[in-house]
Amino acid sequence: MKVLKFGGTSIGTVERFSNAVNIIKNKLHEDEIVVVLSAIGGVTDRLIKSIELASRGERQYVNILENIKSIHFNFLTQLVHEPFRKETAFELDHVISTLYSKLRGIFLVKEASKKTKDSILPSGEYLSNSLLIGALKSAGINSRFFDSKNFIRTDSTFGEANVNFEVTNKLINEYFYQQGRFPQSLDGKFVAVVNGFTGSDDEGNLTTLGRSGSDYTAAIIGAALKVDSVEIWTDVNGVLSADPKIVNDPFPIRELDYNEVAEIASFGAKVIFPKSMEPLQKENIPLVILNSFNPEGEGTIIRNRRTGESDIRVVTSMKNLSLVMLEKQNSKESLEILSRLLGILSRHELTYLLNGRTILQQSISFITSSFTSEELIKEVQTEFSKELKSSVITKIGLINNVAVVSIFNGKKNQYSTNRIFEVLAANKIKIHLFFHRSCIEDISIVIDEKNEEKVINLIHEELYRNETKSFGVNVA
Ligand code: ADP
Ligand code: ASP
Ligand code: MG
Repeated sequence: MKVLKFGGTSIGTVERFSNAVNIIKNKLHEDEIVVVLSAIGGVTDRLIKSIELASRGERQYVNILENIKSIHFNFLTQLVHEPFRKETAFELDHVISTLYSKLRGIFLVKEASKKTKDSILPSGEYLSNSLLIGALKSAGINSRFFDSKNFIRTDSTFGEANVNFEVTNKLINEYFYQQGRFPQSLDGKFVAVVNGFTGSDDEGNLTTLGRSGSDYTAAIIGAALKVDSVEIWTDVNGVLSADPKIVNDPFPIRELDYNEVAEIASFGAKVIFPKSMEPLQKENIPLVILNSFNPEGEGTIIRNRRTGESDIRVVTSMKNLSLVMLEKQNSKESLEILSRLLGILSRHELTYLLNGRTILQQSISFITSSFTSEELIKEVQTEFSKELKSSVITKIGLINNVAVVSIFNGKKNQYSTNRIFEVLAANKIKIHLFFHRSCIEDISIVIDEKNEEKVINLIHEELYRNETKSFGVNVA
């Protein structure tokens, strides 16, 4: 059995959507298939925008809902044929009319809690899943909807909920097999269609797994059902040496291990959701990243261990960040300051402690999300007001609009850190800070966000100086 996950761009137009249906159809000859589907590209962003408008009391939220409705009904008329069209239209109408009434509620009270947002955001997945089932049935493929709110059990951290694996694994197996929903007697000609990104808490409230979380849904289901492999169908040829939206024609990386991908993803490569590797690593289930625009391509295979000597040099970046620096005296309170600071950081999203490893250092720096940095600084100032007064802490500094550019290097010592600093200096790039990640040689550099694309290109060029296109390809 295989899990196939299709992302938003892979179903972003009617042509892309029917291309995905064809990929599923071809796979059905080989295997039993579970499909995990995201919302159509851009729909989740539109839902977020409509919530923002409604909660500010702006009526234009209605225009966005009309737009979402027309996108899906346009897909419906082109992808779903009679006698299935009526049923699918009914399902779409139901989701959309619920959206209208929920957003009207937000418009009236001018407020949306995280819980309310999570009751709305999975709608994009409900809509795309209805279309897929209609399109599969129209193509003669038997399929049924497996609603992940019934088996992905999370806590109530709305917006980025944590999965309760003990309960979830049990529920998935019950739901797919014991309740007889996954018919094994149909010669594999059956597709279970599952909505990505979505779960529910112990009270039955809808939750979401974080933006781009459908990859995680696929991994959770794949691990629980102990499938042969999980395939992530996206819009690029697997993991590349850099984001192709920033670097022209980057190199493909054929093979990686789970830890390597988890780190590359955590430091900004959007191609896979960072937590996806956790459940798969435990069960040693291969994860393959493939291009729906190029289905014959090899993509990237991710396993416990690389089998060959593939060369890995990847540059990633993260933006919308702020750098906070806490300057202090070298004092006996250093350890206590660090532990109190860690207490604060652990309560904030997207926070990385950078050079606080040696407590005797004169400054402790960390990066945090720009959206919450002001709030965080206030919290730090309040916590350390006594130390600021007595000058044990001399300054708390903040630099907004920074990006963190990171280098990954599978075979050590292939590039010279000095050379990279020389190239950046020659191009007059200011480096606010650089740090070695954990105990490995690879570095991350904090720069002004406006220089992000230039820095990525300069570093990528330096990493792949004199390389031909065959480089980065696994020769095993
Ligand atoms: P999907 O809609 O299929 O989930 P995403 O947009 O979430 O797709 O992820 C695919 C995108 O990830 C690519 O279009 C690419 O711009 C981006 N990306 C960033 N870094 C990398 C990288 N190192 N390798 C491949 N893709 C990357
Ligand atoms: N639709 C959700 C998002 O846009 C989840 C996903 O696409 O993976 O974040
Ligand atoms: Mg994605």
